[in-house]
Order: sequence, then structure tokens, then C-alpha cells
Amino acid sequence: MSEIKSKSSASTEEKRAEKDWHAAKTAFENLKSNKPRPPKPQHAVTIAVSSRTLFNMVDERKIYEDDGLEKYVAYQLEHESEPLKPGAAFPFVKALMNINVRLRELYPDSEELFDIVLMTNNHAQVGVRLINSINHYDLTIERFCMTGGKSPIGYLKAYMTNLYLSKDSEKVGEAIEEGIAAATMFMPDTETQLSSTQLRVAFDGDAVLFSDESEVIVKEKGLDSFFEHEKQFENKPLAQGPLKCFLEALGKLQRKFYAKNERLNCPIRTYLVTARSAASSGARVLKTLRSWGLEIDEALFLAGAPKGPLLQKIRPHIFFDDQMFHIEGAKELGTISAHVPYGIGQKYNKGKLIEQPAKKE
Ligand SMILES: [Mg+2]
Repeated sequence: MSEIKSKSSASTEEKRAEKDWHAAKTAFENLKSNKPRPPKPQHAVTIAVSSRTLFNMVDERKIYEDDGLEKYVAYQLEHESEPLKPGAAFPFVKALMNINVRLRELYPDSEELFDIVLMTNNHAQVGVRLINSINHYDLTIERFCMTGGKSPIGYLKAYMTNLYLSKDSEKVGEAIEEGIAAATMFMPDTETQLSSTQLRVAFDGDAVLFSDESEVIVKEKGLDSFFEHEKQFENKPLAQGPLKCFLEALGKLQRKFYAKNERLNCPIRTYLVTARSAASSGARVLKTLRSWGLEIDEALFLAGAPKGPLLQKIRPHIFFDDQMFHIEGAKELGTISAHVPYGIGQKYNKGKLIEQPAKKE
């Protein structure tokens, strides 16, 4: 009897809580605020960043690994009012905010903006330090996703994520398998001054914007077969790769600037930085982009030359590549790099097949 009673009072309690929640939500929505509202996911270009890519939490992570969760949380609480240092994704996120300012000026009522979701599996207590840091740097990040150690895929889908940036290559790999553009971020070895008025995004071609179908031929049959193959299939567009949709989303926002006669002053610039050579295998990638109706502002064909020195000149806020040796070369020279763990390149290191998981000799 008492059990039934407590059940029914629990359900009254639940109903009341639901009512309160609804009232609070309505009140919040009616609040007049000068702060811009986050756009709806179906209109926005949603970028999900992990707390460890937005902020540099290397020292804090070390405390967690060496001394455990309790000490880590205690440390974060103690340093709550001290802002975290910027991480690898910070300049990129900051540049997105600047683009939003420009978009809001040109289109005050449009929700076609960048929206940032902070993904974290941090303890709720650490959330306060994250919020304080976000406010300190004047970032507009209203959506927090506390994943509690679970896979972020469900959340990424719910937020209709256009790009997911993390330090955890396993989660990134899972996202790519689910068709979400994603990359593992690396801090550059040296600091580079980046443009504060223009976002620059550099993409590798094969296994990043495009599928790895041509890369498979390079790896398995060598360069001559590859050149022949690309000539033969010059007019057959390549299949899309994991980052194609993100280039598409950038293009959608670029066109909003063009429509207002701001092409020369567009705050988004995209680069293709590929190891392909222009004469023998460049046409197919340009024709593929054209067949997709996508523009890239600059296409750079390096014909096998290292990418690092060229990227040093471009100074992108983010550079995507599927091959770790390009990432390493880029970050050594100060480029913020993001690894896309996709395609046949993952089985190779500097052109050599990795037979077994790397063993220490
Ligand atoms: Mg590639």
C-alpha cells in the first residue's frame, strides 16, 4: 500500500517537475537579451569541439593520469577562476566567431551561422572552469555536451554536426565511419601569427576531400600506374571523401558574402594542398570539384614536395590531411594540423606498408 502511495506521489512529483521545467524554458525563451541566440542546428554549420582541443589541458591531463580523478577535480576547482590556455582548435573557433559577426551584420535575421558545441566528458565540477574560460575569451558557446565518457556519436548526430574536432583519434575514427566529418587535432611545435579577419582552411585532396580510390593505386601499383589511371578517368569524378561536406558548408557561407558583393573581402578562404602534380593528375580533382558545384579559392599541386613550407606561407587556422607524415611536417613548421584517419594511407608509413602494429626494436 505504502509502495503504491509513494509511486503515485512520485508521478505527481514528476508531473510538477515537468511543469516547472516547461515554465522555466518558456521564461528563458521570452527573456530579452542582447546576446545572440544559438541558431537551430538545421540552419547552422555546427562545429563540435572537445574541451581538450579548444583549450590546452596538457598539464591538467597529466594530473589526471598521474594522480587520479579526485586530485584532478580538486585541482580544477582550485584553479576555477584561472582561464585555461588556448588549445589547437582555439584560433579556428575564434575565427568562426568573427565570421558570425560579419554574417549578422549582413543578414541580421538569418540563422545560417557557425554554431559551436563543446563536447566534454569532464566531471560536472570542471564545467565551471570551462565556462569561466569561455567567458574570459569572449567566445559564444552556449551548447555544452557532457558525454560522461560515452561515445559522442549520438550527440554529434543529434546536433547535425558538420565537423567534429577532438584529441581522441578513436572517437574521430568512429565519427568518420558514421559519415561525420572529423579530425584529430595537433598543436603546432611553434607559434604562428594567424589572420584575425580571415579564416583560412587548407585541405589535402585524396582521402580527405576525395575518397582514397586513387591513393589505393599509388600505394599498390606505384606512381606510373596512378598517372595512367588518372589520365584515363580524368572525366570521371572521384567519389567524395570524409571532409567534402565541410567544404560544402564553408562554400554555402562564402556565397552569402558573394551575394552581398563581398567576394574580395570574404572572411573565408579555402585551399587545396595536394601532393598530386598539376599536369599529370591535377585535372581530375579540379573537374571533380566542378562536378560537385564546389569552388576552392586556391589549388596548390606540390608534385610530391613537402607540404610544411608552403603551409607556412598560407598560415591556415586548420590543415586537414590523412597521412601522419604530412601532419608531422606541417606542425613542425608551425601549422595547426588535423589528422583525418581515413583510407588506405592509415596502413602505410612514408610509403611503406605497416605489417604489424609498430613494435619497439
Ligand atoms: Mg591524402
